[in-house]
Amino acid sequence: MADNKLYEALGVSRTASDSEIRRNYRRLAKEYHPDKNPAAGDKFKEISFAYEVLTNPEKREIYDRYGLKGLQEGGESGFAGAEDLFGHFFGGGGPFGGLFGGFGGGGFRHGQRRGPRRGENTVHRLKVSLEDMYNGKVSKLQLSKNTICTACGGEGGPPGALQPCRMCNGRGIKITITQLGPGMVQQMQSRCLDCDGEGEVINERDRCQVCMGRKVTQQTKLLEVHVDKGMKDEQRITFHGEGDQMPGVEPGDVIIVLQEKAHEVFQRSGADLMMKQTVTLTEALCGFTTVIKHLDGRNIVVKHPPGSVLVPGCIRGIEGQGMPIYKNPYEKGDLYIRVDVEFPENYFAPEGKLKELEALLGGRPAAQEIAADAEEVNMTDFEESPGSGGFRGQYYNEDDDHPHTGGQHVQCAHQ
Ligand SMILES: [Zn+2]
Ligand SMILES: [Zn+2]
Repeated sequence: MADNKLYEALGVSRTASDSEIRRNYRRLAKEYHPDKNPAAGDKFKEISFAYEVLTNPEKREIYDRYGLKGLQEGGESGFAGAEDLFGHFFGGGGPFGGLFGGFGGGGFRHGQRRGPRRGENTVHRLKVSLEDMYNGKVSKLQLSKNTICTACGGEGGPPGALQPCRMCNGRGIKITITQLGPGMVQQMQSRCLDCDGEGEVINERDRCQVCMGRKVTQQTKLLEVHVDKGMKDEQRITFHGEGDQMPGVEPGDVIIVLQEKAHEVFQRSGADLMMKQTVTLTEALCGFTTVIKHLDGRNIVVKHPPGSVLVPGCIRGIEGQGMPIYKNPYEKGDLYIRVDVEFPENYFAPEGKLKELEALLGGRPAAQEIAADAEEVNMTDFEESPGSGGFRGQYYNEDDDHPHTGGQHVQCAHQ
């Protein structure tokens, strides 16, 4: 015969309704909460466990039929981790002590899922430009969500219109239990089709005219999303309790996940910014001044003094011109400029002037001695052929971190 311990723990009868169980649980949980009543010991765990079982239609059904022993045997269906709670009911190593060792992992534990059921979180992605992450912005996001019908207060009809579903006894779930043998139970569950898993039904003529008995209506809600200076890609902004409403369910959160849009000029790496600047060979050798339009619209003047050579692919940093730091926006990262050098077209200087240029650039290294039997060959443009792909990529890729300038020179000389 099934035992009655869980009902006794909550001080309710076997026929108690869901709301009666919840009400008693809340009252007892307040009374025996370990923070308030440390002397109560395991009492709080007991009522929590009883609540877990009796508010879960599937578990309650099994408990009603087979008692705690049934729950223990149904271990595979989500009662793992319950051994210590059973222990409390049976006084430590009680009659079932030692039988629970086999159920590993998962399941419910102390302190989890206590109190009212919680709705799902809703996640939205919001594309944000780098400018907006630099300057900060308030974005308005319109979303539609279910809110509890104001006309019927979420009852779906006038008071008393809601009746427990007869097909499932108000559980929302139909359970078929087959006893396979002594101590072995197989259970199948399916959602009740008559009440659509709600456990309650309303007569058609009683239905609230505003929500058509659905208890909720769809409303448009405008959320103000504060994109603060320095926020990052994938950063989450949470609106607590703004998720869909449902009677008896604590609404979940609306979570906005920022998605940084790619920028034409700047790439971001944490608080730092990186950009490319193409300069001519003359500028690389003789200095230059350029104006960069920053993300807040400022024009910043970048000067490179003459006489200090910029080699292709070199990187120069500008302190404090990166992204603002989140929550500390007066502090900023750095801006890095990667210099690409554009080489001149062929024959850029008249014949006679090349000698002058050579002299200016410091002349040539001493000529190599050429042995009499050395073979003379021609250099041509490099044509990619099967089997040489990796090689070309390695030497001509402009994104290469260590450009092989010699390779570029070879190419130019014979165009
Ligand atoms: Zn309504
Ligand atoms: Zn039903």
